Amino acid sequence: MSFSTLGLSNEIIRAVTERGYTEPTPIQMQAIPAVLSGSDLLAGAQTGTGKTASFTLPLLHRLSSDKNVKSTSNGNPPIRALILTPTRELAAQVEESVRDYGKYLKLNTMAMFGGVSISPQKQLLKGRVDILVATPGRLLDHVQQGTVNLSHIEVLVLDEADRMLDMGFIRDIRRILSLLPKQRQNLLFFATFSEKIKALATGLLNRPKMIEVARRNVTADAVAQKVYKVERDRKRQLLAQLIRQNNWYQVLVFTRTKHGADRLVKQLTEERIQALAIHGNKSQSARTHALAKFKNGTLQVLVATDIAARGLDISELPHVVNFDLPNVPEDYVHRIGRTGRAGASGEAISLVCVDEYHLLADIEKLIKQRLPFEVVASFGANSHTKSEAIPGEPKHKPTPKGSKPPAGSTAKPLPQTSAKQSAPRTVVGSKKSSDSSSASRRWAKRSR
Ligand code: AMP
Repeated sequence: MSFSTLGLSNEIIRAVTERGYTEPTPIQMQAIPAVLSGSDLLAGAQTGTGKTASFTLPLLHRLSSDKNVKSTSNGNPPIRALILTPTRELAAQVEESVRDYGKYLKLNTMAMFGGVSISPQKQLLKGRVDILVATPGRLLDHVQQGTVNLSHIEVLVLDEADRMLDMGFIRDIRRILSLLPKQRQNLLFFATFSEKIKALATGLLNRPKMIEVARRNVTADAVAQKVYKVERDRKRQLLAQLIRQNNWYQVLVFTRTKHGADRLVKQLTEERIQALAIHGNKSQSARTHALAKFKNGTLQVLVATDIAARGLDISELPHVVNFDLPNVPEDYVHRIGRTGRAGASGEAISLVCVDEYHLLADIEKLIKQRLPFEVVASFGANSHTKSEAIPGEPKHKPTPKGSKPPAGSTAKPLPQTSAKQSAPRTVVGSKKSSDSSSASRRWAKRSR
């Protein structure tokens, strides 16, 4: 199937062709006709599937086809489409895509998010804005100051709605909804379905078309997943060694906390590995700077928390490292979705200490796959290390002294049928060490 069969205008097809797209992705094949028909949409698709274009292209088509748009009191056409995103980075990225896909159309777009001065945004709003891409908080600041008018919105897109709900934006979203005209088209995109999404969709959508494209398959051959079992306080040294030995460049490293991200950056920098962090406590200019350097290949390591990195499209990222496993198993899927995109091959590494075995078990259960592991000589976990509670984690039963990794006594075994990969019983490193031997022997015993 080609883009020209979807009913999009020539200007839009020209823009996507110039971007190198030859055919629509599965989500685009389904969503574009649905949105063009005027239906509401409930779409399950993760970032990396081409979901931005799946709502942007028909949105641009719809807005540019309407030749009878009346100007408002300021002499400009009103804002007719609102795209809400959970993070500033995602707002900037989506706005960039909208601008690019719409470059042959006479439509103006604007990104609006916090962490930067509000004045230039007010200035832009005095001019023509057809499509507004915003984070909820800053949008409400503008509403409060009377600098934005949402009374002519025809199309509302909630991008990564599940993440917005996770981030506690539900009240902001409800306030924003109350400011929009009743008659409008609503497009709701989520990565992971939940009861909260169901409740939001029920109140928001009118007889929606439902689309769910295959979740980015974490078992895809394109992503080689591997676990390194390591002592809690040796993770940083192991990471530095892996980066150096393998000459890794463009490594995205996830930590559980903002503080952990900052600490890791400091430690890597001390080891002369160039690293910067993005997370919610960083200024917007620091976040933008770090991301730009990482994207253009001049930064070796970007350390990020889940929220900051969610939805970012960093193409063909070769290495993702879980310095800490996420508390929520779905986040593992989102994290490793940063690599192996668009047919490129990638590697997802997890550094797992004894405190995290139960998290690893949850992840393996979710992805229905046993992850292969390696133990690097002299870094392998000591079998006598007691597990400790992970700060901030809700219900964690510390594993007993000398506990085994997930497939052992502390975790439910996976059904045999779901195991897709077998674990290499590998010990990497120059010398055999005592702590690697007992730990790796027990890991090697994991029944597959
Ligand atoms: P998204 O899921 O919107 O973040 O898009 C992920 C990546 O896929 C982006 O780099 C897009 O430029 C790219 N992309 C989107 N649609 C297509 C397509 N039809 N063909 C090739 N690449 C695409």
